Amino acid sequence: MFARRPGRDNALAPVGMGSHLDSQPTGGKYDGAFGVLAALEVLRTLNDLNYETLRPIEVINWTNEEGCRFAPAMLASGVFAGRFDLDYALARTAPDGASYGAELRRIGFAGEAEPGDHALAAFFECHIEQGPILEDEGKTIGVVTGAQGQRWFAVTLTGEERHAGTTPMPIRRDALVAAAQLVERIQRIALEHAPDAVATVGSLSVFPDSPNVIPGGVRLTVDMRNPDDSELSSMKEALLAALGEIAEASGVAIEHEEVWYTPPVPFDPDCIGMVREGAERGGYPHRDIVSGAGHDAVNIAAVAPAAMIFIPCADGVSHAEHESATPEDVAAGCDVLLHAVVSAANRR
Ligand SMILES: [Zn+2]
Repeated sequence: MFARRPGRDNALAPVGMGSHLDSQPTGGKYDGAFGVLAALEVLRTLNDLNYETLRPIEVINWTNEEGCRFAPAMLASGVFAGRFDLDYALARTAPDGASYGAELRRIGFAGEAEPGDHALAAFFECHIEQGPILEDEGKTIGVVTGAQGQRWFAVTLTGEERHAGTTPMPIRRDALVAAAQLVERIQRIALEHAPDAVATVGSLSVFPDSPNVIPGGVRLTVDMRNPDDSELSSMKEALLAALGEIAEASGVAIEHEEVWYTPPVPFDPDCIGMVREGAERGGYPHRDIVSGAGHDAVNIAAVAPAAMIFIPCADGVSHAEHESATPEDVAAGCDVLLHAVVSAANRR
């Protein structure tokens, strides 16, 4: 959804600002909605002051950012940025059988414009941090310099199911014991790539999952993230070394598949500068920060200069109903967005 406010020269590409209005099943009221309402507030402020920018500006709501009913996430901004085909997006199907395209028509969101039909001179997105860093350091504004890279792996460990009472310890090939060692190693890999690395085993299933059978099979997932691509590669190498060592020592066969890789996305230095300048002019305590999560602005960065503005959220909590941010921090985010958007919209 695009709402355009004209500028003095409407032949120039507009400056976009916005985020998303969809949420998670138990999501709060700030993740996404704050960025769209902040953009509306900027637009209203310009109207109140009768302020005319050189370029037009646009309030943008990117549909289906969370991807919880229609996977994948960040779908509409991905189509706009050319990462996904329109037909692919419209054919996405929910677990209840509904298609994305049909649901867009049903709720009146399916417009006439071709996705990606117009260039953006710049794009800015306000968002709650969704983590604890700004709050812990007493900062009001996070100047987001980019998004970290991700590598996801699916790992399968195959040992041997045998009787838990009659099989002596030395001859066992217990897939869960090997998996436990692997989980610990993965945590250590992240700690050894401090301070920016994170690594998570978020899903693990045991076969045959019976109290008196030695586990013969385990499947688990690995999610590794780092803002530096060479550090992320080094984490992958450390993981592969761990798989080999644990397989060798335990007699458990370990197979892996890399199921997802996205390199780190740096935001545009000029746009980052406009955000930082807005924070400084407003007198807001600020720091540079890398986004741990994916955002629409990360997609848009492929087709337009982009940057983001983070504000703190209580206890760093997001994707939960008790997600919260203070009115003062929300206002500061709007203020910095106003400054950045006006700066970009007055540049030829
Ligand atoms: Zn969001």
